Amino acid sequence: MSRRILISGASIAGLTLAHWLSRRGFEPTVIERSSRLRAGGNGVDVRDQAIEVAERMGVMPRVRAARADVVGMAFLDASGEPLARMDLRARGDEVEIMRADLAAILHAAAERGVEYVFGDSIQSLRQDDDSVAVTFEHGSPRRFNLVVGADGIHSTVRRLAFGSETRFLRYLGHYFAFADADPALGENRWVTAYNEPGRMAGVYRSGNHTGAKANFMFNRREPLLYDHRDIDRHKDLLREAFTGLGWHVPALLDRALADPDLYVDSLAQVRMPSWSSGRIALVGDAAYCASPVSGCGARLAMVGAYRLAGELATADGDHEIAFRRYEDGFRNAVRRMQQVGPNLRLMIPKSRLGARIRNAIARSPLLDSLAGIERVMSPKNTDPLPDYDSRATTAC
Ligand SMILES: Cc1cc2nc3c(=O)[nH]c(=O)nc-3n(C[C@H](O)[C@H](O)[C@H](O)COP(=O)(O)OP(=O)(O)OC[C@H]3O[C@@H](n4cnc5c(N)ncnc54)[C@H](O)[C@@H]3O)c2cc1C
Repeated sequence: MSRRILISGASIAGLTLAHWLSRRGFEPTVIERSSRLRAGGNGVDVRDQAIEVAERMGVMPRVRAARADVVGMAFLDASGEPLARMDLRARGDEVEIMRADLAAILHAAAERGVEYVFGDSIQSLRQDDDSVAVTFEHGSPRRFNLVVGADGIHSTVRRLAFGSETRFLRYLGHYFAFADADPALGENRWVTAYNEPGRMAGVYRSGNHTGAKANFMFNRREPLLYDHRDIDRHKDLLREAFTGLGWHVPALLDRALADPDLYVDSLAQVRMPSWSSGRIALVGDAAYCASPVSGCGARLAMVGAYRLAGELATADGDHEIAFRRYEDGFRNAVRRMQQVGPNLRLMIPKSRLGARIRNAIARSPLLDSLAGIERVMSPKNTDPLPDYDSRATTAC
């Protein structure tokens, strides 16, 4: 029997999983290191099968109502004049939504039957035949039937159950940062971006949000070895990369360095030979992060969580069968969505010539007729989404 399930991480994957597990008769507990739902981030996409998952959860009307109002991306010169614009509006049912808005909607949908513990983290995991003994940084030790790591790219559960993250992270040659920005520095309904070779700083300003978000990305051949939670090191990195740049970069940098929700990380993917080990499994970025440049992170997290809960509910109490089916059914889709394509080269040209070529392409009338091409080219998950409702029995 596998009723009591501990989920580490209260973000897109963890909250979606908590909803589906509780709905299928399990008893999920969600533990989140932060003292509240984390608020940072820009727009993320709810597309193809994630729309279906959100429909089945009953949250899609709220997701649509909260959609970000962004027309596209404008590339600027140092005086702030647009050099080129690209229309990136979502097509059809697709929705671009601020990450924090999506997390809040998923949290509201995962309240009933879910226990939450904020401000704590798993410290150790020890499995035996029937359960996993868990100790925490703050709380008392507890036992669960299963543990799921939904704790992001630097997953603690993955480290404890599978080993050092250096074995699984594939570095993509860049660092990035998200922070709050003064909306006056951006253009209403546009993502404005200023490039210098190997660096990009921009403002994401949605027409139906009062604030704005700064985003920074820069090229770095080798990843740095440091504690990814070392805030001071993050700030040094950002300062080193962006001090002295033109446009509004000095003001964006000052505000980012003072933002308590400043988020800095290396751009990387997670590639793992297996997403489970005994009674412990991984979901979302912890298992198969595609990186923010893929535009697939929220999609993978929501669909992966839906599948994991569905397989657990239909496997007659056998978590090994459930974990195997979850992985067999989803691995091809993950492989496709981890193809990053030309996004990185378009956003951060390595040279001035590269930026001029990118701007010429963005200005071309052909691109107007291909508005939304980036979304069209984005990998799709064409595998059918299983209907677990017709297969589910009760919680195993
Ligand atoms: C603050 C923030 C801002 C982001 N901004 C963007 C963005 O602008 N664009 C984009 O494409 N992607 C962004 N992402 C990543 C994006 O959310 C994911 O790629 C995708 O949605 C998959 O989500 P996930 O739930 O698997 O992982 P994540 O969204 O990374 O969530 C992981 C959660 O686990 C928590 N956690 C970490 N370690 C522990 C621990 N030891 N114990 C308990 N909890 C832990 C984290 O606090 C976080 O809430 C952001 C993530 C975060 C956390």
